[in-house]
Amino acid sequence: MKAVVLFSGGLDSILAACMLKSQGIEVVGLNMVTPFHDCSQESIKRAEEIGIELVVRHFGEEYMNMVAHPRWGYGSNVNPCLDCRTAMCREAKKLMEEIGADFVATGEISGQRPNSQKMHQLALISRESGLNGKLLRPLSARVLPETEMEKEGTLNREKMRSFTGRSRIQLISYARKAFGIKSIPQPSTGCVLCENSYAPRLRDMLKHKDVPTIWDAKALAQGRLLRLDDQTHCLVARRLADAEALDKLFADPKRSRCVLLYPKNYMGASVMLVTDEAPDFGDENPIVSEKLAAYIQTAGSLGLRFSNREKYSAAEGGPTCRLYIGATETEVAIREDPEVEKIPIVMEPLGPEKKKTAEPPQENPENATEETAESDVE
Ligand code: SF4
Repeated sequence: MKAVVLFSGGLDSILAACMLKSQGIEVVGLNMVTPFHDCSQESIKRAEEIGIELVVRHFGEEYMNMVAHPRWGYGSNVNPCLDCRTAMCREAKKLMEEIGADFVATGEISGQRPNSQKMHQLALISRESGLNGKLLRPLSARVLPETEMEKEGTLNREKMRSFTGRSRIQLISYARKAFGIKSIPQPSTGCVLCENSYAPRLRDMLKHKDVPTIWDAKALAQGRLLRLDDQTHCLVARRLADAEALDKLFADPKRSRCVLLYPKNYMGASVMLVTDEAPDFGDENPIVSEKLAAYIQTAGSLGLRFSNREKYSAAEGGPTCRLYIGATETEVAIREDPEVEKIPIVMEPLGPEKKKTAEPPQENPENATEETAESDVE
């Protein structure tokens, strides 16, 4: 028999794969990369460790439609976990059919995640993914309805487990005793959609754009976000890494319409102005409308707001920015504008040093008392 296992490289999916492998089932792991969560490197490493083949696939722009309009709503932030898990299972079904596998398995545990792993939600994922009785959760199989494989007798239900709830203690103990797994992965909170520092920015974007692109979503993660009006916002770099990220985003042919301002004769913040008024990528003769010129001035003034006044005041001839527009580069003089002080920052992102992370669990089953983090990431 052959199975596709949705494989994040987390403890649950490692155990699901090991359990099936130990029953002589050929396992092919599938790691799905979303625009907001990429655990492919960890999954590649873990797949090698346990000796399974791994396929890595990426969701494309269609994922953004799901994020903007989730059929089953959001979790605690803008994480549409039920829709996302269903989409992952659909991809696993496609792979199952491509490689002639017999069923799909996941590391889901009944009752483990608050947003997508309650009993009725697991049933919904089985149904909506089209897998129905071909979707096995080996870690909780004995407390879930029988799958087709169990009914047919091709899988032995007695060799499955009946884990439920959020505690990792028993899982860790089982991993060590049954499979000799020494290096236990930490529970991941890597999905940006679950982060308190990112969610308000995406919510703001969703109020103003029906379906943002992957580029829009990635850009939102850089620097400070300030909204000028329904169609227009600015991203102001806070540090060199933000400025470099904005440069890279500007060079992407799939970018939304935007212009980039880069301080020329002073040390300060670069600004990306994202607006439908901006010319297309690659436009060699960009037209600067009156409206766009006004936006550019506001964006430049916002850059000054977050720059050192002494430094830009000392700039010879007044502060000037390089203006990257379409495929061209020009210069623009920038003036201070007290009005820009009134534009609120949509959400000041947490610096890396302040970023919230889940409490690391205690990994000695004898002493451990911690449960997994609230996130729905495997
Ligand atoms: S937390 Fe996991 S299931 Fe939820 S949206 Fe993010 S990647 Fe998808």
